[in-house]
Amino acid sequence: MCGIFAISAKENILDDLFLGTFYLQHRGQLYCGLSTYAGDGIKIRTHRGLVRETFTNDLVGLEGNMGIGHTSLKDRQPLKLDSKMGEFTVCFEGNIINRGELSDELKKNGHSFYTDSDIEVVAKLIAQGDDFVDGIEKMAQRIRGAYALVILTGGGIYAARDKYAFRPMVIGKRDGAVVITSESCSFVNLGFTILRDVKPGEILMIEGAEIETKKIIPAEFTQYCSFEWVYTANAASTIDGLSVDIARRNLGAALARRYPVNVDIVGAVPNSGIGHAIGYSQESKIPFDNAFIKYDYAGRSYTQPTQAERDREAKIKLIPVPAKIKDRNIVICDDSIVRGTQMKNDLVVKMRSSGVKEIHVRVACPPLKAPCLYGVATRSKEELVAHQKSVEKVRKYIDVDGLAYNTLEDVGEALGRPLDQICVSCWTDKYRV
Ligand code: SF4
Repeated sequence: MCGIFAISAKENILDDLFLGTFYLQHRGQLYCGLSTYAGDGIKIRTHRGLVRETFTNDLVGLEGNMGIGHTSLKDRQPLKLDSKMGEFTVCFEGNIINRGELSDELKKNGHSFYTDSDIEVVAKLIAQGDDFVDGIEKMAQRIRGAYALVILTGGGIYAARDKYAFRPMVIGKRDGAVVITSESCSFVNLGFTILRDVKPGEILMIEGAEIETKKIIPAEFTQYCSFEWVYTANAASTIDGLSVDIARRNLGAALARRYPVNVDIVGAVPNSGIGHAIGYSQESKIPFDNAFIKYDYAGRSYTQPTQAERDREAKIKLIPVPAKIKDRNIVICDDSIVRGTQMKNDLVVKMRSSGVKEIHVRVACPPLKAPCLYGVATRSKEELVAHQKSVEKVRKYIDVDGLAYNTLEDVGEALGRPLDQICVSCWTDKYRV
């Protein structure tokens, strides 16, 4: 998972670039990077660590009127290349399924690689174009998978979204400036408002405050990632016209309608479970209350790089509120159950030691059965508890009194989209791309 931020303006954009990239921290916490252009060449700086921690005292020299930024779970970006079109830097989010095959072919043609990352293959394919639009088109024809990318050049910033629109990409506008980014939560505090989403297959360019569509690669169908609304994206974002917070409330309300239960309070697994729990509460008329508080200084467990770090972060981030749990029957809402170990070994243990009576779990998405091939960090099939066990067996495994998941049909309805227009592969184990 990654976050991408690109900004172009007539004035210096460095502060906005820094903050916009910071507001995408939830999409990746291992590496971050910024690249800018000010008429005297492209500058680039990357760090291991968080945006605010590593860049706050390291911005001098990056001033410019165009820039791109990246937060990542797996590699350092932006990447810089010098090509026949001139110097450029590129940031990418997604996954290239046929990367091995493409890099072997590029090696046979004389290319060398520093890393085994997707971004190097993407950049080298783009550099073979007659111009940047041609290069993106050629890259799109060769790769199998998902991409959203931005390219900083001396002549402007190019942006592109794959024709299935797996990964989100939105355009924001304010007087004299334009941004293209993974999520709208990154620009609201900078004074931008949503202009529109980047269209499936669209290649566009921004320069100054101007936006120009260069090309649209046609597609037979779309595959908007459902998991963005369920879990990945920030609740303040609007993705492809649908507020993430409203989507989560719709999913929670669907759970309340299909799986009602007689309990005293509705609780959430914070943070992403909160919207689902509020939706469940509003629909069922059972009061929402804080069964758990997420400690403000803890990280996001799902996007930690190793399993040990994920387990550690999951354990420390949630603090139970015994006063709200003791002697109560609780329905607790979560976005998903991955391995089931956090629910079993942490949350259920904490609720039981806080004196809970009954625990009923409601999950916003269907049972996770397969890994993502399109750029979201997920577990292997063998690690997914729902791949190995029925719902009843998962209930027994996590040791709760009740467990129910949203159906695929309810997910489609909650997101307001036909099921053949959204990606649901991690729940069906069927891949269309
Ligand atoms: S497989 Fe799941 S996480 Fe991956 S793009 Fe599809 S819905 Fe999103």
